[in-house]
Amino acid sequence: MSCVFCQIISGEIPGEMLHQDDEIVAFRDVNPQAPIHILIVPRKHVASLSELKDKDLPILGKMAGVARQLAEVEGISERGYRLVINCGPEGGQVVPHLHMHLLGGRRLSSRGG
Ligand code: AMP
Repeated sequence: MSCVFCQIISGEIPGEMLHQDDEIVAFRDVNPQAPIHILIVPRKHVASLSELKDKDLPILGKMAGVARQLAEVEGISERGYRLVINCGPEGGQVVPHLHMHLLGGRRLSSRGG
C-alpha cells in the first residue's frame, strides 16, 4: 500500500483530521500554500478525476459540500476561498489519489500557473 492518502485514511501515518464520514475525510495539507489549506479526499482510492467512473461522479458534490462546511468552520466563507482539483502530470497532480484543495485565508492570485 504505497498511496500516502490511503495511509492517512487508514491511520498508518498521521494527518490533522478535520472531517471524517463514510465516504470522505479531510485533513490539513502538510505543506500549506495559504493560511488555510485543507485536502478533501474520498476514502475510496481513485487515482485522479480522469479515472473517476461516471457512476461515482456524485462524490464530487459531496466533496464540495464538505469543503463548504469546512470553509464555514474555518471562518472564510464570507471572505472567499478556492477549490482546486489537480489532474495528471500537467495539471500539477503529485499524489495519485483524487483530492480537492480548499485554499483560503489570504487573497489568492486571480490566475493559476
Ligand atoms: P497535488 O499536487 O494536487 O497532488 O497535491 C498533493 C498535496 O498533498 C500537496 O499539497 C502536498 O503538500 C500534500 N501532501 C503530501 N503528503 C501529505 C501528507 N502526508 N499529509 C498532508 N498533506 C500531504
